[in-house]
Amino acid sequence: MRRPLVAGNWKMNGTRASVAELIDALRQQDMPADVEVVIFPSCLHLAQVVSDLNDKAIAVGAQDCAAQAGFGAFTGEESASQLADVGCKWVLVGHSERRLIMGESDEVVSRKFAAALECGMTPVLCLGETLEQRQAGQTLEVVGRQLARIITDAGIAAFERAVVAYEPVWAIGSGLTATPQQAQEVHAAIRGQLALEDQRIADGVRLLYGGSVKAENAFELFEMADIDGGLIGGASLKANDFGAICRAAGN
Ligand code: PEP
Repeated sequence: MRRPLVAGNWKMNGTRASVAELIDALRQQDMPADVEVVIFPSCLHLAQVVSDLNDKAIAVGAQDCAAQAGFGAFTGEESASQLADVGCKWVLVGHSERRLIMGESDEVVSRKFAAALECGMTPVLCLGETLEQRQAGQTLEVVGRQLARIITDAGIAAFERAVVAYEPVWAIGSGLTATPQQAQEVHAAIRGQLALEDQRIADGVRLLYGGSVKAENAFELFEMADIDGGLIGGASLKANDFGAICRAAGN
């Protein structure tokens, strides 16, 4: 039985004051005990969020980490060691905004995935196709290639300590959501690819859907057999909406 997981990616949003307000509002949400909840604030607010949520069952993660696990001359970067040191237990790797805007290759994503694991954090590996790739019928090939790189480099056992998020690029922040059937097709393919290596690990790994998930469409997505929760962008900035999405993931 896979425990549902809902993750909130705050992206490059928030000031200390607005983050304090959002945390206050989140603290008032009735979060279902059977759902694991993680939020990913900007790096600047990690320490604030970790300390203000320390008595609430909401974990904290970072939106990215350096490809180098330790310390050193990498101006502007934050390593997985440093993130773990401030209380992060989770880290997003390979978000499409980093792949497409910052030009992160599959190789860089793979190194970040390894760095997160090395420092004891759980990586959330983000995979997804662009609109052009979907229209060209390449969705499963693109997602399969992104995943294959990590399986090859990190080994299938790494997926006992990782989560995978399928996030079609065309659905992120666009208001367009994949239909539950479209999302399920890709999730089943991801689980199937992992199962070719190890059925037990494939059955245990949690697969999140991300892309314009809202309180109104969360339940029908989370009902699908291979969708174990969501990675939520815009709606995670509103405590009531995020709380409703978390409750929709409850059994
Ligand atoms: C995301 O950025 O991971 C995301 C899913 O964003 P949104 O929910 O806003 O589409």
